[in-house]
Amino acid sequence: MGAEPTFPKGDLMKGKRGLIMGVANKNSIAWHIARQLHAQGATLAFTYAGEALERRVRPLAESVEAELLVECDVTDDASMDAAFASVKDKWGELDFLVHAIAFTDKSALEGSFVANTTRQIFKDTMDVSAYSFVDAARRASELMNPGGSMITLTYLGSERTVPNYNVMGVAKAALEASTRYIARDLGPRGIRVNAVSAGPIKTLAAAGISSGKHMFSFNRLASPLRDDTDPRGVAGAALYLLSDLGLSCTGETHHVDAGFHIVGMPDEGALKE
Ligand code: NAP
Repeated sequence: MGAEPTFPKGDLMKGKRGLIMGVANKNSIAWHIARQLHAQGATLAFTYAGEALERRVRPLAESVEAELLVECDVTDDASMDAAFASVKDKWGELDFLVHAIAFTDKSALEGSFVANTTRQIFKDTMDVSAYSFVDAARRASELMNPGGSMITLTYLGSERTVPNYNVMGVAKAALEASTRYIARDLGPRGIRVNAVSAGPIKTLAAAGISSGKHMFSFNRLASPLRDDTDPRGVAGAALYLLSDLGLSCTGETHHVDAGFHIVGMPDEGALKE
């Protein structure tokens, strides 16, 4: 990563309190989103996924004056119960939720999808990367009033095949469909639910994908903007969807990927660096 990104300040999120799930370190997409929301006046709570991560997440949370930092393993019901109980005890209500969580076994992120996807890997990937949003959305919605908003993070590998993305693409397809069904269910209560489909960004999760380098350069060279995906654009989309700027928008999968998703065939010569 180059210089630390900066985020436009304002008061679009003033008075809103939200839970951020999925910060592992300062490169995490959830961290860029948290910084943008904080710069617009949001009050934040964070979950972290284990003791080792607490050491990295605590100083980040403190730097944005987070009011709550709580451990949460999304595959463990007791851990989810405890995390959401802490939010309820602290605030009583919740205005927004950011879900930026995914995991699969590294062995499934290379080679053949059909050969490498065992039953256990399929189940575990779906559990962490798709079901966790259904579960978190249900729990968060119990604390939300009309005007509440939630987002999850997805990737184009749900719609098209991407080398080595494999079972994670299948989980992202389930995540996007879940987003639409959750939006349908919570819409009558005035709660909006959307997904941001980000292009490749250098994070811990992205480092697990074989041939990630090819993924980055192909996206950059073939996209209409001929550029990498800027995490500030992803954070800006999150701000739009989570603030009242996004009124009337729900059930959407919004792409922030330098336009890569619209390309059927790259321009002649585009793939030469
Ligand atoms: P990241 O920094 O590695 O964040 C992934 C987060 O998921 C980590 O905090 C991780 O914690 C957490 N997690 C994994 N298993 C968990 C569990 N059982 N319980 C609770 N948390 C768990 O990577 P990222 O790229 O920002 O990923 C955030 C989201 O964006 C993911 O959904 C990812 O698929 C999506 N996305 C990423 C890209 C990209 O190019 N980076 C593009 C599009 C979409 P641990 O580190 O402890 O596992």
